[in-house]
This record gives sequence, C-alpha cells and structure tokens, in this order.
Amino acid sequence: MNEWNRLVVKVGTSTVCHKNGAPNLYRLDLLCRTLSDIKNMGKEVVLVTSGAIGVGVNKLHLPERPKEISRRQATASIGQSELMRIYDRFLNDYGSIGGQILLTKDITENSIAKANVIATFNALLAMGAIPIVNENDSVATEEIVYGDNDTLSAVVASFTKADILILLTDIDGLYDKDPSCHPDATLIEMVTDISAVESLASGSHTNQGTGGMITKIHAAKIANAEGIDMIVASGKDPRILYDLLNGVPHGTMFQARR
Ligand code: GLU
Repeated sequence: MNEWNRLVVKVGTSTVCHKNGAPNLYRLDLLCRTLSDIKNMGKEVVLVTSGAIGVGVNKLHLPERPKEISRRQATASIGQSELMRIYDRFLNDYGSIGGQILLTKDITENSIAKANVIATFNALLAMGAIPIVNENDSVATEEIVYGDNDTLSAVVASFTKADILILLTDIDGLYDKDPSCHPDATLIEMVTDISAVESLASGSHTNQGTGGMITKIHAAKIANAEGIDMIVASGKDPRILYDLLNGVPHGTMFQARR
C-alpha cells in the first residue's frame, strides 16, 4: 500500500475522448467514480484534464481543430464548459464536488497570483472538493501558453505539494524504443536518472514517437526536482489507480531522489 495522501491525476484528450472526438462517457464515469472513491478513503485528489478543444470540436461538429487562434479559443471555451458539465454530473452521482481552475503559464511568474491559486487549491481540498484543472485555452496566447497538460500537471503537483503525480495516457509507459514500429520494445518500469532516458524521447521522429514522451519527461523533471514521484500509465481503465495505490506497479515510475 502506498502512503500517498494527496494525488494529482492527469488525463489526456485520448483518455477523455473517443477517436472521433466525442466524450468517452464510460471512461469519464469510471474516472469520476474511482476518484470519488479514493477521496472517500480519506485522500485528497486533484484532476488535471485535457479535452476542452476536442470536446468543443465535437460539439460544434467541426471537421478538425480550427487553425485560426480566435476560433480555436472559442472552440475551447465551448468545450471546456461541456467538459465541466460532464465532470459535474458524474462527480455529483458519486457524492463529490468538483471545482474548476483554469491556469495560464504566467501564474508561475507572478508571485501574488501564484500564492492566491495555491491558497485556492488548499481551500478546495479542505472543503472536500476535487479541483479540476486545465489550461485556460480561451485566453492563453503564445507568450503564456504551457501548450501541454503534462507540464501543467507537474506545476500543479508542485503547487499542491502532492505525494504523487499520475499521468494516465494512451500508452503503457516509457519504452526503450518506439513501440509503434519496434515490436521488441520493452517497457522501462523505473527511471531514477532522467538524463539517461531523455534521448529515448528526443530521438523519436514525431511527438508521438516513443509515445508522446518528450512532454512527459519534461513533466517528470519538474516533479522529481520538487521531490515528487511521477507515474506514466495507461488510462484505458481508470481503475488502474486502485492498483497503483495498493503498490501494484504499472507503467513507468519516475522516482525522485530520496
Ligand atoms: N488544454 C488542452 C485541451 O484541453 C489540451 C492540452 C494537451 O493536450 O496537453 O484541449
């Protein structure tokens, strides 16, 4: 059994949405049930969720993500409210309360805003709510954009002094080779020295390469530097969180120096 009391769980668009962009209600339901149950065990949970743009594209029946910034930001605005409506409804079913927090990158540079948001996280958790975080895609411009929620989730883990950061994604973890073109690729279960695995991700030809690992390794660096362990595991079945809590290893653990 892992002694984690405060967990930050991040889910990507591929976990939250079907391939056609429609929200994956079965998985979102399971996710909300599992997070609520973990909270019922007396633990504190923060959820970092992607999907605003994906859900917006689907709701507006757009053929693809708009290229024009204002249209993309408008799409995110529509998708984010829809996403929150779905979370709210499922969390409500399981007796939980969600509280939305939308962040932009400048939060880390503005010490007053940073202190305020940290206080808000702590107040939400003290109220027994589940903070639900995304990047504020409707206002974030190039200068203040994280661009990926892996990095954002590591920042949130650091703000909340989490015991563990868990990234649930569409791959099983970090492989020694790109598993999509090397059937003999093996999963790396434990990383204690990030510099030793960095080349695995940077050597991949696309962002998906070794499984979209560049941003995950970047997130691990931020989390580990704060003494927070990070796990990358499959989000196919969110009940994997029970196993992780029970000390059953899945995916790749990026272990912070003790
Ligand atoms: N914030 C973006 C969204 O909600 C996702 C960013 C990411 O995929 O990491 O659509």
